[in-house]
Amino acid sequence: MRQPLSRELSNLLERGRDRQLRLAVTGLSQAGKTAFLTSLVNQLRHAGIEARLDLLPAAREGRLLGAQRLNQPDLGVPRFPYDPGMAALRDTPPRWPEPTRGISELRLQLRYRPARSGWLTPEIAHLTLDLFDYPGEWLLDLPLLQHDFYSWSQAQAMHEGEQRRGLFSEWLTAVASLDPASEADEAQLAALAEEYAQGLLRAKQAGFSDLQPGRFLLPGELEGAPVLQFFPLPQLSASKEALEALPANSLYATLAARFRYYQQQVVKPFYRDHFRRFDRQIVLVDVLGALNAGPERFEDLSRALRQLMHSFDYGKRSLLTRLFAPRIDRLAIAATKADHVTPDQHGHVIQLLEALLAEPLKDLRFANVPVKALSLASIRATEAREVTHEGKRSPALRGTTLEGEDVLVYPGDVPARLPSADFWQQQGFDFPGFRPMQSHSEALDHIRMDAAIDWLIGDKLT
Ligand code: GDP
Repeated sequence: MRQPLSRELSNLLERGRDRQLRLAVTGLSQAGKTAFLTSLVNQLRHAGIEARLDLLPAAREGRLLGAQRLNQPDLGVPRFPYDPGMAALRDTPPRWPEPTRGISELRLQLRYRPARSGWLTPEIAHLTLDLFDYPGEWLLDLPLLQHDFYSWSQAQAMHEGEQRRGLFSEWLTAVASLDPASEADEAQLAALAEEYAQGLLRAKQAGFSDLQPGRFLLPGELEGAPVLQFFPLPQLSASKEALEALPANSLYATLAARFRYYQQQVVKPFYRDHFRRFDRQIVLVDVLGALNAGPERFEDLSRALRQLMHSFDYGKRSLLTRLFAPRIDRLAIAATKADHVTPDQHGHVIQLLEALLAEPLKDLRFANVPVKALSLASIRATEAREVTHEGKRSPALRGTTLEGEDVLVYPGDVPARLPSADFWQQQGFDFPGFRPMQSHSEALDHIRMDAAIDWLIGDKLT
């Protein structure tokens, strides 16, 4: 039987329309990317049934009908491990999903009923959503592209913080005795590069974020490759001209050649083959974790974020615009794990995030990139309660620690501005890590995931 004319037309129209969106999730490790993407896929799959997505009009109005996984188009990119993540969350006791360590991808097809009905509007429409997850550490390498080995070494001359220098003390002593003109010794370079990478990892574990080169922390498929066997020379005393005149087999020239290779073969291809093709992006930030970790790490996070955000600054003269033409047309920046504080503090979390990113946000708005700051919990692990003490009611959180202890806590007040010295002295901020809650529904419990989804894809579901 022939289809009615209007149906044929609307199918045609459907095929002609751009119904594809590439959405990327990033953040420094531990920011909550894996949890976010697991929750995002879960919410979309259960939209219209169990998911609570009231802040997303298409879901609230009952027009979002659900999502189906499709095979991804990029065969060279690993698939995002959604099923293992859900299995961990459904385990007894529930566990957090194993974090991803490189780039991964998942393709969803969303079914929805368009808001406007009309002659040419199809009854049911589809949106193909390609989701990507990649380490924010990789973006810390963008500034590395504007350096040569000499200027990079100078820029890396150890940061001021005493704690941080302490984490590199052996490496610092070892490189101080190196002669840039001596013949390169492969084994020594490999050992020192390994020591440098270990220093970066120790710094990472201690909560520091401003760490380069990014692939030393998350090498992915480059683990053990010679391209990662270099390090800066922070105490160069000879002039740049003299150093650059050294023979190709010298220590200096060898390190410089590896640095160039890293720039050309590792950093640039990521921007060219992936970053440039994302349409929308969400950057996750563990502001509360940094607040919990103390002033030096908070300051370090702030420096790392300023650097990371350069990748989204498309001002005419930005490095990135000169290299490639990125096309991200919408950006979200989200403070994660909002369930670590009581609901009355959520407003402050956004204000603190905006204060932390004041400069990059100003630049982005100036460059006319639509950007929104949010606070959310991808997978809620606590319940908000009230406790009464001596007749006074105050907010509290109930949850189970990672060690399995049920606790009722008040983590503290979140400052609405960048914390002053006073704040750190009278530090009233402390919370434990929580275990995910046992879920009784197919859809994961969250805080404001729907607001994030609305900002990132809501306009495509009208
Ligand atoms: P990634 O390294 O950026 O992928 O970070 P993950 O998604 O693995 O998250 C790191 C850790 O943060 C998890 O193991 C959890 O302990 C915690 N976490 C992530 N999301 C949430 C959340 O929504 N609520 C709470 N309470 N903890 C979270």
